[in-house]
Amino acid sequence: MARAGAAALLVCGVAAAQADDVVATRIWPARDYTRVTFETRSELKYALFAIKEPERLVLDLDGVDAGPVLSELQNKVAAGDPYIASLRVARNRPGVTRVVLDLKAEVKPQVFTLKPIADYGHRLVLDLYPLVAPDPLAALLELDGKIIGSAPQQPPAKGARPKVARLATIVIDAGHGGEDPGARGRRGSHEKDITLVIARRLKGLVDAEPGMRALLTRDGDYYLPLNARVEKARKVKADLFVSVHADAFIRPHARGSSVFTLSQRPTSEAARWLAKQENDADLVGGVNLDGKDRFLAQTLLDLSQTATTDHSLKLGGAVLAELGQVNTLHKARVEQAGFAVLKAPDVPSILVETAFISNPEEEKRLNDQAYQDKLARAILSGIKRYFAKNPPRPQGPLALR
Ligand SMILES: [Zn+2]
Repeated sequence: MARAGAAALLVCGVAAAQADDVVATRIWPARDYTRVTFETRSELKYALFAIKEPERLVLDLDGVDAGPVLSELQNKVAAGDPYIASLRVARNRPGVTRVVLDLKAEVKPQVFTLKPIADYGHRLVLDLYPLVAPDPLAALLELDGKIIGSAPQQPPAKGARPKVARLATIVIDAGHGGEDPGARGRRGSHEKDITLVIARRLKGLVDAEPGMRALLTRDGDYYLPLNARVEKARKVKADLFVSVHADAFIRPHARGSSVFTLSQRPTSEAARWLAKQENDADLVGGVNLDGKDRFLAQTLLDLSQTATTDHSLKLGGAVLAELGQVNTLHKARVEQAGFAVLKAPDVPSILVETAFISNPEEEKRLNDQAYQDKLARAILSGIKRYFAKNPPRPQGPLALR
């Protein structure tokens, strides 16, 4: 970052545009930020500065004339825009047009370019974020393109902080991974690969829902200890935690979907066996959960568990009902077992055994894209069904009550 007087140069863009080729401009106040977009025929050369007292952002566009399309931007600022008070477009010097944004408060700008796609040309995008992210998840949001530019971290002026609605965060855990392959089907498929595909699919569906955001505990083929998965969910203050697996049993004809929640006393012999299989995986990565604090941890867990067991069962019931639309149910009820991966006591958590990978017929379906999609959609429908009766709390997840 280079400083020149009161103006801080935030970023210079590289590009080779020459002509007056701005074809469209847009201002879109979204949920978490306001987006200003310049659409052009060729890539724009630009520089972004922040100026204080009063707070302004200055965007110099090189090789661009202040034509009517660009000037129109001045009339596009919404009266209720949380960040922009007004906007001016003027010729600054030969070949350079200056866009000045008068701000209501200091913002965290992010500027990036997007290559032409479908009906859109080159785009220069300027996003204005609040200085203090209202939600820890905002920091995790990923944008296509480079994220550059920063502003000093300090709270915004009193009363200037924009009101931002909270997104419900669903943490999706693809079971196993890396040197822990999970169960193996007779046709050779590994549980860790199936779970990742379904988890990614589910994330895509959740992200497309208004008011929801999904986060994967792992997005690749690597080992992640069980406690690290839980820790991720807690760190982002997840509203729900969904661990995706594919079941296996000694008998190849065992089949159907199951949903589990945490219990200290598994409800059936099979649930106990399964929990042992899943938990044993934790030793693969060399992590031993049986630390010396186990007794203390267990006590605290039991104390805090009651509040979310109820919600986990409600969520599990909703997901199980939807899975019943796309697959046989292995058990008609939500089962309870002592899965280490579900031990985030303050986040309603379920473990979904999508189908039996040890059943050759189900293994085949688990590898079918259309069926993977059906499973993901069923889980999403279950989540929505749960939220319809237990809406995400505006003040935060259960953990933050
Ligand atoms: Zn598993």
